[in-house]
Amino acid sequence: MIRDIVFYPDPVLRKVGSRVEDVTPEIRQLAADMIETMYDAHGVGLAAHQVGVSVQLAVIDVSHDEECVSYLRVNGEDKSPGEICPIVFLNPVVELLGEKDTDTEGCLSFPDLRGEITRSFEVRASVMTLDGKTLVIETDGLFARAIQHEVDHLFGKLFIDRMSSARKLAIRRQLKEMQDQYG
Ligand code: ZN
Repeated sequence: MIRDIVFYPDPVLRKVGSRVEDVTPEIRQLAADMIETMYDAHGVGLAAHQVGVSVQLAVIDVSHDEECVSYLRVNGEDKSPGEICPIVFLNPVVELLGEKDTDTEGCLSFPDLRGEITRSFEVRASVMTLDGKTLVIETDGLFARAIQHEVDHLFGKLFIDRMSSARKLAIRRQLKEMQDQYG
């Protein structure tokens, strides 16, 4: 089922998500709905907060572009994005690696807003799956960027927090309009 996407400045977006200790049928349904909602909105990632639930669960699919990473290892094994996407992950712990990289990002909770965001080019993320397995995902490029963006959501952090002060100033009116419309 496609769920409604929550827009800024909904307070749920600022909550620190609770860890998922127990993969209940509700959590499985939430994950399935989030994948459907992400595809429907043409996003590459979605955090539970963005459908109004503040738990540490997110989904990502970057398989539209197999060249968007230069490497991807899952528990030490080489994979392609298509082999593991869409990925559902719980309770992530992310290690930031490599050089910093700046690229344009959007966010489904901020329609029409984009910005240059500097992030680490590589990550090593330890996450849990719906089956209770632990995956260690090592990757770079768009996948690494999407992981960082979604994990930020799970801890109440938004991409506008990472914009330069010049960009923040430039989008002040747009944010104000969103506050008027969705606040
Ligand atoms: Zn987002």
